[in-house]
Amino acid sequence: MNIVYLNGEYLPADKAKISVFDRGFLFGDSVYEVIPFYQGVGFRLTEHLARLEYSLRALQIQTCQDWEAILNLLVSQNGGGNLSVYLQITRGAGDSRSHRYGDDLSPTVFACCTPIKDIYTAGPDDIVPMKVIVTADLRWHRCDVKSTCLLPNIMVVHQAQAQDADEALMMRDGKLTEGSSCNVFIVLQGVIYTPKRGSEILGGTTRELIMQLADEHAIPSQEVDIDYEMLKTADEVWISSSTRGVVPVIEIDGDQVGDGEKGPLWSTMFELFIRYQQKLMTGE
Ligand code: PLP
Repeated sequence: MNIVYLNGEYLPADKAKISVFDRGFLFGDSVYEVIPFYQGVGFRLTEHLARLEYSLRALQIQTCQDWEAILNLLVSQNGGGNLSVYLQITRGAGDSRSHRYGDDLSPTVFACCTPIKDIYTAGPDDIVPMKVIVTADLRWHRCDVKSTCLLPNIMVVHQAQAQDADEALMMRDGKLTEGSSCNVFIVLQGVIYTPKRGSEILGGTTRELIMQLADEHAIPSQEVDIDYEMLKTADEVWISSSTRGVVPVIEIDGDQVGDGEKGPLWSTMFELFIRYQQKLMTGE
């Protein structure tokens, strides 16, 4: 059964109801996280919860809850296993629609689960490389906040779909930012490059892990501005996100990336991911 969490209760999804005046629904006045659980255990849960607190602080949504306990119970109520957990916190519901809000609102907390594949036990041959398009970044200038105002993200991924691609990478002022729901990396002559962290991109937990693993294994990596030319001449391009891990891109705007195959540095990074995951799960 699909059990969801809503404001302190665990209940079947079709029994969960929120107010029509909820500010998340009316204004996108809310933040969220998507956290993979493998074999019932949260993957980089601490990092996700730290980012959640950052987003809540940025929007001044005040709530203090034991997120870990809430999510762990939700996962066990849904049978554990491999699940993607969605957690959304809205500023709450007033008694009418108004841009203004008082400090008397009680945040709405909603969480649900979706089954996912364990990409780390699947192995590199099961990872399907992606085709992407590049398009304009029409989002606001606080992309470091994981808010649910996702209309531009939805529009670009729809554009990608219409062009038979899997993802859309975005550019602002001539610089690559990120994908509709992922960060982006390129490899040039053995060096990993990724756009600089700041308010124009989300500080991805998987992005952080890639940088950490590169550091630990002496693979050169750098945060830089990446223009279209640099992107199109890269030897390898990858995207990263919590539920997808690190995925090679083999086509950009209809042109092949490198030799059109999963790249050697991607294979190394994927292997490092698997080892990191095994260590987390077994403690070895
Ligand atoms: N950038 C955007 C816009 C995203 O929506 C996401 C994930 O949803 C990411 C990057 C990757 O973040 P993470 O690796 O923490 O999943």
